[in-house]
Amino acid sequence: MKRNGSPRWGKETGVWRDVPSRQWNDWRWQLQNLVRSPEAFSELLSLEVGEVSALRVLRTQFRFAVAPYYFSLIDPEDPADPIRRMIVPSSQEQSGNGDMDPLAEVAHRVAPGLIHRYPDRVLFLVTASCSSYCRFCVRKRNWVKSDAASTEAEIEEAVAYLRRHEEVRDVLISGGDPLSLPVERLDYVLGRIRSIPHVDFLRIGSREPVMLPMRITDDLLGVLDRHSPLWINTHFNHPREITPEAAAACERLARIGIPLNNQSVLLAGVNDDLGTMRELLQGLLGIRVRPYYLYHADPVVGTAHLRTGVRKGIEILEGLRGHTTGLAVPTYVVDAPGGGGKIPLAPDYVVSLSPSQVVLRNYKGDHFVWGDGGSAST
Ligand code: SF4
Repeated sequence: MKRNGSPRWGKETGVWRDVPSRQWNDWRWQLQNLVRSPEAFSELLSLEVGEVSALRVLRTQFRFAVAPYYFSLIDPEDPADPIRRMIVPSSQEQSGNGDMDPLAEVAHRVAPGLIHRYPDRVLFLVTASCSSYCRFCVRKRNWVKSDAASTEAEIEEAVAYLRRHEEVRDVLISGGDPLSLPVERLDYVLGRIRSIPHVDFLRIGSREPVMLPMRITDDLLGVLDRHSPLWINTHFNHPREITPEAAAACERLARIGIPLNNQSVLLAGVNDDLGTMRELLQGLLGIRVRPYYLYHADPVVGTAHLRTGVRKGIEILEGLRGHTTGLAVPTYVVDAPGGGGKIPLAPDYVVSLSPSQVVLRNYKGDHFVWGDGGSAST
């Protein structure tokens, strides 16, 4: 695992080796030096001419940008590098399969940026921007035409909806990446939601601790602390993302009392094997992040090469449950198409079920018979 200081290809041996630490660790410098053109990707990764041409076409459809910090985690000698698969655009994205809005979020939009699908909770998109753009993102539609609440008037319209809907007690703030917002804007958004008496649970979904951990500054922590209690859902997908910088960012968030839960996406060639997934999940516990969800990848346009079958996710869960601490085992979910909501999937531990007894199997495959009164035998 890279966490203990093994090589950062781009930083230690590559184009950024002479960047002073003070700049490298400044999130503003990172954003000023984004890798964002086919030519820049080509220079850093020695792409073939055909691939560069494909990226020029692709660029007219989808955003590209990678912060140097995150780019530096890629091994440039490995075309199948898992970090590369997640973040470097590929000509395979030109496949037309998939949907721009597989979860039908637009159909459930009730105010700017506000998606109301479940009885007591809403999703609030407050930006379409991120520091880097993941190729598997479920909100690629926002890269083309944003439906986030991006002005004060739009935020107020969403807040007015929330005030009218007293059944809403839980707001998940997402995007884009809410922690990429200027701190004044984030302060404003959080303050406006906090002013609604019936909203008693506030969560933020962010990949900044993973892709731009230097963004977790004292200013940002001050704003988050002011609006506590808050929960943050991080988004680590691979053990190599658990760097000392990412660990420090999570530590800073945890120290101000923010519970950290992780949502991973199951991605082909990235984390679709038991060993990698176990290393990721156990590594997260080591930095105080509790694995929460493992999402089956949604059928987003241009992501067919990153998706696995559902069987793979169930196999991985089977290899985790009972074999490692339950705290490291996330809930594996498919987000049903068309806005049907999350459906949990798990290996089947019920061998047979009758009115008088149930036969169960454990993680080793041993069977246990439970009588009507709850007594057990094997
Ligand atoms: S950080 Fe999140 S919202 Fe932004 S591109 Fe990645 S997956 Fe999408």
